[in-house]
Amino acid sequence: MENCLFCKIMKGEIPSSKVYENEYVYAFRDINPQAPVHILVIPKKHLSSLNDADKADDRELSECLRAIPVIAASENLSNGYRVVSNCGPDACQSVPHLHFHILGGTQMGERMA
Ligand code: 5GP
Ligand code: ZN
Repeated sequence: MENCLFCKIMKGEIPSSKVYENEYVYAFRDINPQAPVHILVIPKKHLSSLNDADKADDRELSECLRAIPVIAASENLSNGYRVVSNCGPDACQSVPHLHFHILGGTQMGERMA
């Protein structure tokens, strides 16, 4: 997608603090962290949100999920972490490229919304 912020980040056209990459997945630090560790995991294929899951190969989606515990381990999140994927306006999704937030490094509240 030409004008997608996260596609540009993934291609290196916009700088980011990369924490992980493989053939299917790119992960980088959130510019406005909401926890001591706040990382975004994105598929390299442009998908607007989880609502586009049927447009992705299983591998493209599963690699995002498989990357999460690898990244969590490399960030020393052995005491736990939270994974969030905002989907659409009610969830305040602000960047329309599927992404999974990894939040950790602190004790989080029990409420999620
Ligand atoms: P959403 O609100 O769509 O779930 O999450 C989008 C996230 O992208 C936000 O947490 C926001 O801080 C982050 N973000 C927006 N623009 C940039 C950017 O240019 N670089 C990085 N690293 N993160 C960004
Ligand atoms: Zn994109």
